[in-house]
Amino acid sequence: MYDYLIVGSGLFGAVFARQATDAGKKVLVIDKRPNIAGNVYTEKIEGIHVHKYGAHIFHTNMEHVWNYVNKFATFNRFTNSPVANYKGELYSLPFNMYTFNKMWGVVTPEEAVKKIEEQKKEAGITEPKNLEEQAISLVGTDIYEKLIKGYTQKQWGRPCTELPAFIIKRLPVRLTFDNNYFNALYQGIPVGGYTKMVENMLDGIEVRLNTDYLENKAELDALADKVVYTGPIDAYYDFKLGTLEYRSVRFENETLDKPNFQGNAAVNYTDAETPWTRIIEHKWFEFGKDDEGNDIPKTIISREYSSEWKPGDEPYYPVNDEKNGKLYEQYKELADKEEKVLFGGRLGEYKYYDMDAVIDSALKFAEKEL
Ligand SMILES: Cc1cc2nc3c(=O)[nH]c(=O)nc-3n(C[C@H](O)[C@H](O)[C@H](O)COP(=O)(O)OP(=O)(O)OC[C@H]3O[C@@H](n4cnc5c(N)ncnc54)[C@H](O)[C@@H]3O)c2cc1C
Repeated sequence: MYDYLIVGSGLFGAVFARQATDAGKKVLVIDKRPNIAGNVYTEKIEGIHVHKYGAHIFHTNMEHVWNYVNKFATFNRFTNSPVANYKGELYSLPFNMYTFNKMWGVVTPEEAVKKIEEQKKEAGITEPKNLEEQAISLVGTDIYEKLIKGYTQKQWGRPCTELPAFIIKRLPVRLTFDNNYFNALYQGIPVGGYTKMVENMLDGIEVRLNTDYLENKAELDALADKVVYTGPIDAYYDFKLGTLEYRSVRFENETLDKPNFQGNAAVNYTDAETPWTRIIEHKWFEFGKDDEGNDIPKTIISREYSSEWKPGDEPYYPVNDEKNGKLYEQYKELADKEEKVLFGGRLGEYKYYDMDAVIDSALKFAEKEL
């Protein structure tokens, strides 16, 4: 018998498992995948830690979360500074003085502001009716045309004129030479990969992989007093009220027989014609070095395509609209009535969580539960 059966070895499950074990509870972690770590799983190929479910950059302002993860990994000094490629022209992101200098040849912040204001005025939009008008009213025409339009269209599978204005509330414009994408106090990538970090969290804890909870529910339930379920909430109820929708991403990985493909971890393709939204070159998360500190002769890239999600696909981003929000509330009502099963994590709560937020949530959940 176990005190807790933890369904899912992603960050939520792993943090809860660690906290429960440290509090003297006996836990069993199961996962239907052949590996631990959920969506932060990194697989070592050619000496490179490949982020299999999308690029993951750890960033947080929460000191307690930073201290917590540092118990299980040493973080390198990686700073996310993506580059935009618009038809072969390269621009710095997020929009900052480097971007404006490249776009217009302006040198001072005053000149940049003047240029943006001129374009906003020229467009003359007072009440934006769609995303295109909203973006132009915030940053002017050039930045919109070259850096926002095509990318957003690919992400949503629809022209910006057919997307609601509220999707973009703010578009931060930096009048400094600062390419640091996340304005976070702490940032980095765990040395040795995320899988190793989660492995350290689960140190000494029994884990069964390739084990689907829902397919063996009665048998597994009998093993523990309580269940912490981090899988999809609608799947738990066999989709009886309907299916919660997600937005999906498709990754196309390629190993190249050269040491450097694009010189940066992330390059966004902001034109509408290139079918992928961005290319990730994984080795640059670790400065091109393997675990022993050697240069890696090959490189691995992932092209990311936004794709329509259909039931059965990997769920990535929850859709925050009214329909899905209401459906989740109905499932949550059922979940709140469960006596033995507790729901948590991005799938259990149908909520987009950054890594630091899901760790914080699991720590609070553990504090309450234990
Ligand atoms: C494309 C993408 C990029 C991201 N990039 C970043 C980033 O750069 N920085 C950042 O901070 N955050 C990022 N995130 C967020 C991050 O991925 C999440 O915060 C984190 O993965 C959530 O952990 P979790 O444990 O809730 O879920 P998951 O990692 O999904 O873990 C759930 C686990 O449950 C298992 N499971 C499900 N159903 C069952 C079942 N029936 N039986 C057994 N096991 C089951 C799954 O196999 C999975 O391993 C990104 C997310 C996405 C989608």
